[in-house]
Amino acid sequence: MFQFDHSLARELEGFYVPVQAAKPRVPRMVAWNAPLAEALGLPQADETQWAAWLSGAEEVPGSQPIALTYAGHQFGHFNPQLGDGRALLLGEVIAPGGARFDLQFKGSGPTPFSRQGDGKSALGPALREYLMSEAMAALGVPTTRSLAVVATGEGVWRDTPHPAGVLTRVAASHLRVGSFEWAAAHKGRQAVERLADYALARHFPDRMEARNRPLALLEAVTEAQAALVAQWLSIGFVHGVMNTDNVTISGETIDYGPCAFLDAYAHDQVFSSIDRGGRYAYGNQPVVCRWNLYQLASALIEAIVAVDEGDNEAARQLLDGFGTRFEGHWIAAMRRKLGLTRTDDGDVALAQALFQALEGQGADFTRLFRALAASLSEGYGAVAAEVTDPAALQHWWDQWQARLASEPLDPDERAARMNAVNPLYIARNHLTDAALAEAEAGNMAPFEELLALVRQPFTRRAGMERYEHGAPDGAPAHVTYCGT
Ligand code: AMP
Ligand code: MG
Repeated sequence: MFQFDHSLARELEGFYVPVQAAKPRVPRMVAWNAPLAEALGLPQADETQWAAWLSGAEEVPGSQPIALTYAGHQFGHFNPQLGDGRALLLGEVIAPGGARFDLQFKGSGPTPFSRQGDGKSALGPALREYLMSEAMAALGVPTTRSLAVVATGEGVWRDTPHPAGVLTRVAASHLRVGSFEWAAAHKGRQAVERLADYALARHFPDRMEARNRPLALLEAVTEAQAALVAQWLSIGFVHGVMNTDNVTISGETIDYGPCAFLDAYAHDQVFSSIDRGGRYAYGNQPVVCRWNLYQLASALIEAIVAVDEGDNEAARQLLDGFGTRFEGHWIAAMRRKLGLTRTDDGDVALAQALFQALEGQGADFTRLFRALAASLSEGYGAVAAEVTDPAALQHWWDQWQARLASEPLDPDERAARMNAVNPLYIARNHLTDAALAEAEAGNMAPFEELLALVRQPFTRRAGMERYEHGAPDGAPAHVTYCGT
């Protein structure tokens, strides 16, 4: 049976409202993550039963559905009242290893926070979150996971009619920067302190003994987010809507609405239809991450200085140090991607020079790093084939070769290590869109094929060549939309 706990409901009275999920009549399981269910220690049941539970048709035994309240800066503008407008927290499960996870419905109907929305989710975007989050998990990036997508048998209107679905999301928690902004804006210092203590105990328990707990939380989240965004950049991931309500306290990637993986590398690449200013462009993500952490600091600052006035300065220094902290994570990831096991003072400049040389070359981000590994045995030609101007990377490649001369590994070993961190298969935009369109039309085969590949992204599979290539020439530019 389910063994739910409800620590958030118990300890954070006032931060949520109880809400019941809408009850669909004919739920049908569309994507079931059996390995994740097992890892969480969930009970054995057949898919029909799971579909009934994970659609809201039958109450999940022991659950206590609540909608969380939060605020957030959306594209730089503060909205003091957001909240789960189409999501419900069922409760927390403790996995066999002892880790605590939220189970949350997304698309389960309206809540007091739905504003003008219908509280529903179209099936395609729910499956998109499933696919993307599984791909990220397989790439080793901290992320929320997806337990199931159930079609409800109903429809939703998103410019055109779509079948509706409910996604069950699994997260270390659903606390976000916007949760603290809400507490600071509406409830004052003591509520912020209560929330900070809850978050620290849940996500960073080894820091509970810190002299200044709100400051310790700010430090821990800064570290987690710097590490996370560095990983995003290293795999060409564009989150697309880094509003403060979509920034977790745990450091997990959350909210796979308008996200996408880069096709051709461009520092300023944007996919989202609403991000006209490029605020959430690929290369701007570290800048926005720091901006978001400033909002967290603003929400925490009263609590921080209440412990020690002088810690105002400590908080400032922490945020001033974000760039250095981020760069440390970024260059560590880039060294792995470039097959560098030792450190050299010139490595940051070398990695930056690669991206400068790539600008405007139309090089597929994912393929390029596999080509670099191939070039260790095949020579520069393997790289030249990936860029518009075949000579564009020659100078950089020569510099890289010179740098590799001080490295211990032989070329085969180095290539193997590079290929173990540089994926062959990502959720490519044109393939994802095609698979989701098929899924909404009732054919799950392309989705399942793509999912199987991105779950083992480093291993080449025979007969799957088309998954290694970008969209054919002349294909329309990829555009993503917010609403799941
Ligand atoms: P997001 O951009 O997905 O992070 O959502 C921002 C806010 O809008 C959150 O408070 C969501 O719960 C809410 N929201 C988004 N879509 C819907 C919807 N279809 N119905 C109700 N609320 C929604
Ligand atoms: Mg959100």
